[in-house]
Amino acid sequence: SRKWSRAMAILKEFEEKCGTPIGKLRQVADAMNVEMHAGLASEGGSKLNMLISFVDNLPTGDEEGLYYALDLGGTNFRVLRVHLGGKDKGVIGQEFAEVSIPPHLMTGSSEALFDFIASALAKFVASEPEGFHPPHGRQRELGFTFSFPVGADVVGELTKSMEKIGLDMRVAALVNDTIGTLAGGRFYNQDVIAAVILGTGTNAAYVERAHAIPKWHGLIPKSGDMVINMEWGNFRSSHLSLTEYDLALDAESLNPGEQAFEKLISGMYLGEILRRVLLKMAKEADFFGDTVPPKLKVPFILRTPDMSAMHHDTTPDLKVVGNKLKDILEISNTSLKMRKIVVELCDNIATRGARLAAAGILGILKKLGRDTAKVGEKQKSVIALDGGLFEHYTKFRECLESTLKELLGEEAAETIVIEHANDGSGIGAALLAASHSQYL
Ligand code: ADP
Ligand code: MG
Repeated sequence: SRKWSRAMAILKEFEEKCGTPIGKLRQVADAMNVEMHAGLASEGGSKLNMLISFVDNLPTGDEEGLYYALDLGGTNFRVLRVHLGGKDKGVIGQEFAEVSIPPHLMTGSSEALFDFIASALAKFVASEPEGFHPPHGRQRELGFTFSFPVGADVVGELTKSMEKIGLDMRVAALVNDTIGTLAGGRFYNQDVIAAVILGTGTNAAYVERAHAIPKWHGLIPKSGDMVINMEWGNFRSSHLSLTEYDLALDAESLNPGEQAFEKLISGMYLGEILRRVLLKMAKEADFFGDTVPPKLKVPFILRTPDMSAMHHDTTPDLKVVGNKLKDILEISNTSLKMRKIVVELCDNIATRGARLAAAGILGILKKLGRDTAKVGEKQKSVIALDGGLFEHYTKFRECLESTLKELLGEEAAETIVIEHANDGSGIGAALLAASHSQYL
């Protein structure tokens, strides 16, 4: 029918616009490399902030002792205690407690919030096993994962709150989840050179040579290294395959013009892009019947885990797709033909995101000169990946991995390893407290 062909035209146009042929991905990787240089050259030199993290000592794996970490996410936080056994012994033991933050503290003063956190931490410290207390005069040390960009002096505020209740603990490192993941990965494998988070949002961090950071005017650290928090979600390039749906999503978002890369590849947005394409098909091609299903008009109603479930549907009649459309969007009686279109859209959106993420990783490897195999060199480069999207969206993960291989070519691909870093972020902060200890 005429309407069906209109729907097919919308699908086809979307497919063309969001396509990521290999040449385009190479341009994205080159642009990432260029922007990394620009962001390192000067403050505000690029959409990529390339933040200097002050983490200049990554764990070697030989650290020993008892270290604490505090992982502050959205609505709850975790306190951890990690017992490190030194060379070859690794993590001997770890304990953690999860605490939910009362809602009124999330919107109240930061002093009240930090007082609450400090008292929860003190409670946790009180359960420290006998025989593990620090010797007299020695402070406990803490790594703090704080995954929001902040202007406030969070270390100072936390320290003040701890002092108030007599908790003698030093904040040895303040990092975000990406740097925590990098540290956690490095503790177990010294070939880890970068970390990428693909969860609700996305970010990357990597190890740069301090002398390759023109905007750094401080002393060159003893290690010669400095971890850079790229804030790569804000990367943009004319080579990103933007469609009308991405432009509208951005315009109607809370941060228009910002986080362009993130809006193409992260879990927060993939399902929402799908909703927008389906809405257009409903409006302009009566794809779901004469009326537009009201639920389809609700922003962010289609979540990425639901999209993932539809994308992985292996039932012959695409039952999962049918049920999701019914349960979430209240669209019943979908034909197999329609369900197949939905799966195809999932595939287009996830494939674009995964391939762009792979191109971003290639950009980092290029910046470090690790994108080509060097004759006679056995150098390995490991990238630690974490986040719910990478962990649970199998097709996304597989596409990312195969695209990176495709971009690198067979020989270079053998030198690059993608490793799933399981919950590096919490433990990573404790490991950073160890590698930044004042008693080293
Ligand atoms: P965060 O990024 O919020 O710190 P996570 O790393 O756990 O937390 O990632 C959670 C995100 O991962 C979710 O917002 C969602 O977008 C994505 N996600 C979780 N489960 C799935 C799934 N089964 N399929 C696809 N994406 C998922
Ligand atoms: Mg996270």
